[in-house]
Amino acid sequence: MSNEFLVVNKVSKTFAGVHALDNVSLTIQRGEIHCLVGENGSGKSTLIKIISGFYQPDAGEIIVNGKSYTHLSPIEAIRLGIQIIYQDFSLFPNLTVAENLAMNDELERNVRFVNWKQVRRLARAALDRIGVKIDLNADVEELSVADKQLVAISRAILHDAKMIVMDEPTTALTQKEVESLFRIIKNLQQEGIAIVFVSHKLQEVAEISERVTIIRNGKNVANGSIAEFDRAKLIFHMTGKELEETRYHYTPLTPKPQSLFSVRQLGRRGSFEQISFEIFPGEIVGITGLLGSGRTELASALFGLKPADSGQIEVEGRPVAIRSVQDAIRCGIGYVPEDRLTEGLFLEQSIGRNIIIGIVNELANRFGVLKKEAVSREISHAIEYLRIKTPSPYLPVKSLSGGNQQRVVLAKWLAAKGKILILNGPTVGVDVGSKSEIHKTLHELARKQMGILMISDDIPELLQSCQRIVLMHKGRIVDELRDARCNEPEINGQLKALV
Ligand code: ADP
Ligand code: MG
Repeated sequence: MSNEFLVVNKVSKTFAGVHALDNVSLTIQRGEIHCLVGENGSGKSTLIKIISGFYQPDAGEIIVNGKSYTHLSPIEAIRLGIQIIYQDFSLFPNLTVAENLAMNDELERNVRFVNWKQVRRLARAALDRIGVKIDLNADVEELSVADKQLVAISRAILHDAKMIVMDEPTTALTQKEVESLFRIIKNLQQEGIAIVFVSHKLQEVAEISERVTIIRNGKNVANGSIAEFDRAKLIFHMTGKELEETRYHYTPLTPKPQSLFSVRQLGRRGSFEQISFEIFPGEIVGITGLLGSGRTELASALFGLKPADSGQIEVEGRPVAIRSVQDAIRCGIGYVPEDRLTEGLFLEQSIGRNIIIGIVNELANRFGVLKKEAVSREISHAIEYLRIKTPSPYLPVKSLSGGNQQRVVLAKWLAAKGKILILNGPTVGVDVGSKSEIHKTLHELARKQMGILMISDDIPELLQSCQRIVLMHKGRIVDELRDARCNEPEINGQLKALV
């Protein structure tokens, strides 16, 4: 038996004139962990839908176990041991875990009476195989995202999977859940099951894959053992551009600069305590920690969303009281929340309106009527300055890509003449291309002597901008890593020690 389980050979697929896939090939060896990598819209999902039999290719062939097919039907694909776990898991939300695990099988066999004892036994065995404990009687809709995913994986095993394809499986998972998924993937591999891991997240790709296939704009651009690809090379192939991942270096303008933002002994009962740090003009300070370390709580206090109940805050050496978001904005503080979609913006409203929302009073004449010219000057300046890609400022914010929505949040703060910017997970769920653009913008803002507080789990991202990273744990600052100690192995070591 050859070692190749699946060969996709020069497959093409067009949707109404759009070449989603153009002569794309992919080879999956038995029992390997293979990453299919590409930016959003590069054709990853289309390719796996062809493998699953959901779409028929316009040209090319699919070879499974040495047998060639011009296309597969969904049932054929399943019989050959191909299992796909889509982003929505394709589970039945109002059925129980056991019912979900049994369902497809029973439907396929068209049986009228389900042998529930048998179903439960099989379901239990499948869950045991991946070493998870989930109540078989629980309704699937009540499970966490991570548990739903585990049910979908168990179902794949029950169908005697030889290859499991996971489409962007970590999108909605926490760091801890990602680690546990990776352990499960390695266990599946031990059992001889091949895993195709679809992703655009570089760190994950580097961590889990043995081989990679990279596609861009529906075309193959590179493939090979992961050892042949470093971060820069992966980025180059995904984006087609030599993205300089520029590092920012803070250099004070004067020998003894005045602190821009200082926080002393700040606390809020039950959330965080004794938080002290400062940011100088032009400096980007990082904060990291494990989930639940209190970082987001701290950020929401600094921005007045949930004010602190002890300690002091000073802006440019003057004590300030931040009891509301209005207070924070008056002090020149801006906040880009983790979930920019729900917290930071009015999605249904226009891009322009979102940008000026914080300064409407300044833009109104003494009768409270907006000065049209001032408004459009402000908006076009912001769109230009932050390179927001849109044909018109009148379009709703929701029409923008994630990276551009993030820029609108920045534009809003800039319009309000911000000095201090707090970012929480600035590039979560953003493409590498847009990510590097956002970093460039942040570095530009810092060069203009603004102070930035960057909260993130993405250590390489922090290291690109910060020479000082504060480590939080259980609501307290436990360490501050700077200069020689400010590097990836050191920080990861510190984080591991906290678990
Ligand atoms: P990825 O999963 O890598 O983000 P997709 O495979 O979803 O990419 O999409 C590849 C391209 O094909 C995109 O330009 C997308 O808009 C287009 N596309 C995908 N599915 C369809 C469809 N059903 N109809 C029209 N265009 C589609
Ligand atoms: Mg996709």
